[in-house]
Amino acid sequence: MAIATVNPTTGQWVQNFEPLTDQALAAKLELADRTFQVYQTVPIAQRAAWLNQVADRLETDCEALARLAVLEMGKPLTAAIGEVQKCAAVCRFYADRAAEFLADEMVDTDAHRSFIRYQPLGLILAVMPWNFPYWQVFRFAAPALMAGNGALLKHASNVPQVAQKLEDLFLAGGFPVGIFQTLLIGSDRVAALVADPRVAAATLTGSEGAGSALASHCGTHLKKTLLELGGSDPLIVCPSADFEQAVATAVASRMLNNGQTCIAAKRFITVGSIGPAFEAAIAQAFAQLVVGDPGDRATQLGPLATAQILKELADQVNRAIAAGARVVIGGDRAALLDRLPPSLQGGHFYPPTLLADLPPNAPIAQEEFFGPVALLFHTETLDQAIALANNTPFGLGASIWTTDSSEIEQGIQQLQAGAVFVNSLVKSDPRLPFGGIKRSGYGRELARQGMLEFTNAKTVWVH
Ligand code: NDP
Repeated sequence: MAIATVNPTTGQWVQNFEPLTDQALAAKLELADRTFQVYQTVPIAQRAAWLNQVADRLETDCEALARLAVLEMGKPLTAAIGEVQKCAAVCRFYADRAAEFLADEMVDTDAHRSFIRYQPLGLILAVMPWNFPYWQVFRFAAPALMAGNGALLKHASNVPQVAQKLEDLFLAGGFPVGIFQTLLIGSDRVAALVADPRVAAATLTGSEGAGSALASHCGTHLKKTLLELGGSDPLIVCPSADFEQAVATAVASRMLNNGQTCIAAKRFITVGSIGPAFEAAIAQAFAQLVVGDPGDRATQLGPLATAQILKELADQVNRAIAAGARVVIGGDRAALLDRLPPSLQGGHFYPPTLLADLPPNAPIAQEEFFGPVALLFHTETLDQAIALANNTPFGLGASIWTTDSSEIEQGIQQLQAGAVFVNSLVKSDPRLPFGGIKRSGYGRELARQGMLEFTNAKTVWVH
């Protein structure tokens, strides 16, 4: 895949970027290693001061940064602004809390003194996706740098300008040259990087295929990995739920980021008699979404990030229909394009689509739909709804909507997911750990757990 900016709103190519030569890559690795040797001794208070300055810069440059993401991957401007602000917040969170999270942990034993000391692992390779091109990187880098690690970013090939901007941001904050570097390389060069003894560990957010490839390379070289992969999150609605809130949240969750969010609610599951009303309300809300230019603040749904993602999504919808799904609304891209102005007709737009009654065991029902397409299932009981919710290879997030306390407890206990949200949108929050189970990956980002992933928990025993 060429490293290039292609505007998904128009389909027009903007600019190509030359990948690093082998010599340039070697020089960057050498610089990273040299910088890390010194950086790991820098006091936490100094690292925090730099990270707070990065947050300042994110806030000052917020709109320009957001517009760059809009240009390269097409998310609505308001969402892009929110993403940049969230990056500033995660910087401030770790700047504030790192000293507490990394403090020696005393443990009572028969030693004179015994404790755990958390030390950096070294250079961490981050393979990152385009869907939240700032947030996914900050979610990894803010805690990793505060813990004293160095960071090497291999960003997705369709967001090279954001990738370069990320390095600029860390430099502008005052971090030493070389402690955070963007490597403009294709994914075919990741294996060699993992093999380099100076790279200590790796993290990847993206597809199962990419995660599995990275984990294999890391397995060969016995290096730690953290994987945040896809999801097909269920949203269960029980009869006692606040119906309007459940509908509004289901729509917002599914359509956030043009439907390209790992923790979006992708399968809506109703319990009992509310099924038809819920279906009608979702269809009406989907029909009212403003689809158009993501640079326009009124737009709620922009294009998919690449022509390939669009092609795959359209193919998935066709396969779902062939497997028995009923189209409640959407699925007709030509009709959507007819309504868009000519300047947008080369863009990667896809209409909000609701598919009901897909046989849950059809192979397509087990796939992640990465775009504005929701699957809707009706069940009779909560037991059936939870069994259906768990009938997926993924386990990232799940939400349940009910006011019945025993149903709440059942959902918390039985839903197979890294996170369960009750009567709320599934979202990431710097104060809480984030990650999945099953084929959604392993390890945790954010909170203290996320910071400790890339540390050596050194056991100390003093006789
Ligand atoms: P990918 O998983 O292919 O890309 C994510 C990152 O992994 C990119 O930096 C990519 O680099 C890199 N990568 C890809 N293949 C390999 C490999 N074999 N070894 C090492 N690195 C690799 O995602 P896509 O953009 O292709 O999207 C495909 C699907 O992945 C989506 O439809 C969605 O289902 C899922 N996805 C999930 C995300 C999430 O947040 N959980 C985020 C993005 C995608 P390069 O760009 O150079 O190929």
